[in-house]
Amino acid sequence: MRPPESARHYTLKGCPPLMLTMFHTRNDFEAHSSVTAVLPIGAIEQHGSHLPVGTDTIIVGELAHRLAERLDAYLLPTLSITASIEHRKSKGTVYLKADTLALVIRDIADSLRVTGYRKLILVNGHGGNWILKPTIRQLNRDFEDAGHAMEVILITTGIVNKRTVGIVQHTEGDIHGGEKETSLMLHFCEEHVKKPVQQPPTAVPQDFLDYFDAVDLTGDGYWGFPEAASKEKGRLIADLFADCAVDYLDQIERVRKSLKTE
Ligand SMILES: [Zn+2]
Repeated sequence: MRPPESARHYTLKGCPPLMLTMFHTRNDFEAHSSVTAVLPIGAIEQHGSHLPVGTDTIIVGELAHRLAERLDAYLLPTLSITASIEHRKSKGTVYLKADTLALVIRDIADSLRVTGYRKLILVNGHGGNWILKPTIRQLNRDFEDAGHAMEVILITTGIVNKRTVGIVQHTEGDIHGGEKETSLMLHFCEEHVKKPVQQPPTAVPQDFLDYFDAVDLTGDGYWGFPEAASKEKGRLIADLFADCAVDYLDQIERVRKSLKTE
C-alpha cells in the first residue's frame, strides 16, 4: 500500500527549504529563525462506510502543511488520536478523554516555549475537540500571568465555511463525512474514498452527540451530504484554507498593535 498523500510532507524532498518538520536535525532548527509552530490536530474515528477512520487526520495534515509553508513555521506531526468518544461504538475508533487532550496540548505548548517558540497555532480538524477552546483561553492567561511570551492560537478547518458559499451545495448540517470532508478526501487521496451508503437524513441537533453515539443517530455513521461531494470542490476548499487562516492571524496582530498604541 502506498502511503496516503498526507505522509508526503514528512519527507524532506517534499518540503520547501525553510519549513521545518520532524525530518530536520537539531542544527536545522538552530539555524532557523522562526518562532512559530503549527500543530495539526486530527482524529481516528469512523466516518461512515465511504471514508477511512483517519479522514480528519489526513485532511488536517494537508491543510496545516499549506499554512506552515506560508508562515515558514515548524510543522509538527499531526496529533491523530484525540477526543472522539462520540464514535466509541465503532471498531477502529480510538480516543482520548477530553481532559487528557487538554493536558497534552498544555504539555506540547510548554515544551515548545522552553525551546524558544513564541507562537503555537493549533489547526483543528475534528469538531469533537471542542475542549481546545477553553484550554487555550486558560493557557494564554496562564502564560501571561507567568510572564512568558508565548501564545496559543486555535484555527479550525471550518474557518473556510464563510467563503464556501457558491462552492458547496450544503452550507448547513454537513457535519461529519459529508459533502465537505468527502470532497477534500477526493482531492487529497481519492483512492481511499468509496461510494457513500444511503441513510435517512439526521434530524436532531448536533449537540445530541452529548447523549447518543454518532452511529445510533445516523445509521451509516456520517452526518451530511457525501453524495454532493466532488474532487473539484475539494480543491477549491483546500485552496481557501491558508488564506482564511492567514487573514485570521493578521486580524489578531492588528488588534494587538492597536491595543499597544492606545
Ligand atoms: Zn471528520
